[in-house]
Amino acid sequence: MPSAGSDSRGGGAQAGARHAIVVGSGPNGLSAAIEMARAGWSVVVREAADVPGGGVRSAALTLPGYLHDMGSAVHPFAVSSPFFRSVPLAAHGVEWIQPPVAMAQVMDDGPPVLLYRDLQQTADGLDGRDGRRYRAMMEPFAEHWVPFCDDLLAPTAPVRLPRHPVLMARFARYGLPPALTIANTSFSGARTRALFGGLAAHSILPLTWAGSAAFGVVLGAAAHAVGWPIPRGGSGTISRALVSYLESIGGTVVTGARVRSLTELPPTDVLMLDLTPRQVVAVAAGRLGERERGALSRFRYGPGAFKVDWALSGPIPWRDPMVAQAATVHVSGSLAEMVVSEAAAWHGTHADRPFVLVVQPSLFDPARAPAGCHTAWGYCHVPNGSDTDMVPRIEAQIERFAPGFRDVIAARSVMSPAGLEAYDANLVGGDLGGGANTLGQIMFRPVPRRVPYATGVPGMFICSASTPPGGAVHGMCGYHAARAALAAAGDAS
Ligand SMILES: Cc1cc2nc3c(=O)[nH]c(=O)nc-3n(C[C@H](O)[C@H](O)[C@H](O)COP(=O)(O)OP(=O)(O)OC[C@H]3O[C@@H](n4cnc5c(N)ncnc54)[C@H](O)[C@@H]3O)c2cc1C
Repeated sequence: MPSAGSDSRGGGAQAGARHAIVVGSGPNGLSAAIEMARAGWSVVVREAADVPGGGVRSAALTLPGYLHDMGSAVHPFAVSSPFFRSVPLAAHGVEWIQPPVAMAQVMDDGPPVLLYRDLQQTADGLDGRDGRRYRAMMEPFAEHWVPFCDDLLAPTAPVRLPRHPVLMARFARYGLPPALTIANTSFSGARTRALFGGLAAHSILPLTWAGSAAFGVVLGAAAHAVGWPIPRGGSGTISRALVSYLESIGGTVVTGARVRSLTELPPTDVLMLDLTPRQVVAVAAGRLGERERGALSRFRYGPGAFKVDWALSGPIPWRDPMVAQAATVHVSGSLAEMVVSEAAAWHGTHADRPFVLVVQPSLFDPARAPAGCHTAWGYCHVPNGSDTDMVPRIEAQIERFAPGFRDVIAARSVMSPAGLEAYDANLVGGDLGGGANTLGQIMFRPVPRRVPYATGVPGMFICSASTPPGGAVHGMCGYHAARAALAAAGDAS
């Protein structure tokens, strides 16, 4: 592998251009690199793995002919991201598939709850008055999704006050009450409560904690505004498109190039770190001030994920065939069961019946598996760094709602929290959110400061999901970090 020596900084930037080195090629590292390259800088991305993309990669993890998403699979925020919308992703190979149903919430008793793109259709499937209440909750955000994302995907105050204060004031109602409270006070039916709980569980917070409800509202509104699409050919197509576009504007990505210490790197005008705080401290040891080091070391990681990828000899035999209309399935029998599961991951224990997030992309993208066969992944939240084998519990949960599931498993690949971290060092202890989504860290991450991307070291910035607006595939952390770096360099055109 070539190394990023001074002769490999280059690319197509004009002579005399300033130089940036980006450490890490996740969606945020690549977005930061693109924004710097667009500003005429010469940019080199150094990536530890042999394939760029971080949490957004696809690979043949099981049997020949099966393609699996190693990390992200479903992308409402990629299609919502103002930055990604400015990148010609389609021209570089990204094609979105919208499954007929965004998400199915299975239920012990009765049919699944179906989250359609169409808000009214979703509301019509809910019991009693819940349909009207659900509509009232989601409609303001779904209808004003673009302005809502303007604020949602921006750095938080004091960097920037909301552009749409009325909408954000309405959203703030869901900031403090936990998901459990919002579900129980807003809805009367078990099905709607479970629907909301499953959406909120994407927060990776106990559903009794502040902040969890806000995730539920955002994910529900996203489904109605833009759907929960999957990319044809696997999530890796998104990373390949970002790399291809970056290269077309002169940037370079060097793989197999783990940075162990910043002292290994040639001099550069800007260093952009697509790393979480613990790694920043490790690679930048000597450069950070004591206070900064202390603040970054106190950054809190969330629970880990325990993930299984399956090669299947047929589709998952869901008891209710409508579940096969959705790429994403929330597998848990009730809100109460989810509450137990999500609390366990924070309290060092493992639920007997974990909330399992399942994605079954090959139902809508047949090229991911041999004819008639399928792929799926499922994960549950576990304590950070847990080494408990959750395969039996995850598969039992699916079997409960899809009798015969075990019979169609042809092969499986298992990623424990340690396995996830080995594949991508940013997944510290299996934490896929780049850090806990506690209220404090949603507002101020990685540490409270006016420019959250800055590190106190001139020219050195953090651009990973550990900065605002946080986890998910949208590239906005990288974009904002690059804008902060350009502004600091007096190049904020
Ligand atoms: C199992 C799983 C499922 C997910 N599902 C979804 C989903 O469906 N939808 C969604 O929107 N999001 C999902 N996510 C989250 C999403 O993938 C992340 O939020 C996103 O990838 C974060 O991007 P990033 O650029 O900050 O970091 P990452 O994508 O983690 O990239 C960091 C990169 O830095 C590299 N690196 C680390 N240390 C070094 C070093 N010292 N030197 C050089 N390189 C280094 C890593 O190898 C990696 O390539 C999922 C994540 C996981 C793990």
